[in-house]
Amino acid sequence: MRKLTIMRWFLVVTALVTSIFTTSVIAATPWQQVKQPVAGAPQSIGGFSNGCIIGAQALSLNGSGYQVMRPQQLRYFGHPNLLAFIHRLTKTTQSHGLGNVLIGDMGMPAGGRFATGHASHQSGLDVDIWLQLPTERWSAVKLSNPKPVDLVAGNGKQVVDRLWQPQLAELIKLAANDKDVTRIFVNPAIKQKLCQSAGTDRTWLRKVRPWFGHRAHIHVRLHCPPDSRECEEQAAIPAGDGCGTELASWLQAPAKLPSAKPKPPQIPEPPATCKSLITNNFKSE
Ligand SMILES: [Zn+2]
Repeated sequence: MRKLTIMRWFLVVTALVTSIFTTSVIAATPWQQVKQPVAGAPQSIGGFSNGCIIGAQALSLNGSGYQVMRPQQLRYFGHPNLLAFIHRLTKTTQSHGLGNVLIGDMGMPAGGRFATGHASHQSGLDVDIWLQLPTERWSAVKLSNPKPVDLVAGNGKQVVDRLWQPQLAELIKLAANDKDVTRIFVNPAIKQKLCQSAGTDRTWLRKVRPWFGHRAHIHVRLHCPPDSRECEEQAAIPAGDGCGTELASWLQAPAKLPSAKPKPPQIPEPPATCKSLITNNFKSE
């Protein structure tokens, strides 16, 4: 357990260096220059953290039951399955009277690597959903510069009870029960809160995975669409609800931080299809 915890802190330090590296060294990626989806039958290509998408669609900015934040960033594109998931989810949240769902980053028009913020969201199958469910619709000004609500206490071990609402657990459960969802990443303290409040219906908790950050939003990931032959699925999730020793290891304080300096991260070569897509379609950009 102790070894596992030290390893996890090693990953925290690595993630920190990664984010510094990402923001300072990778000033721009060619994918950010792409303003329109690549025409063609929808295909998610490669991995969630190293891929792209053909035939992405734009999520309507004027949906009922949800709103899209920071639309100026053009990160509201995805595989049609992702759009269908958002519509299914928000139709249900609306019928349950849960409030307005706030959609954060999805993918860029052709997917690919963001210059800042995430390593994943590359193949049109990931969406960030903020953990706020306002009853009023937000103005365009507020949507363009939204303020996250940090639900996790400073020690990282529990949620802030005065900010937590049972509706947030209901939102996460509805998303986890969706047939196309494979994983939902949340902060370990949020997973713990869900574990404690779930009651006897616990199968959905398996898909809810503890991860760094994710203090103000959840990250929902869909399965590879069956007809996306070059889409790379992740390894299967361990059995069980994930509320036991695995979660405890995330919440345990480290005995001491590792002394070894983490190596700078390597940005992998994109899949061949993605490389040719960017060179063939966007030479002039
Ligand atoms: Zn995300």
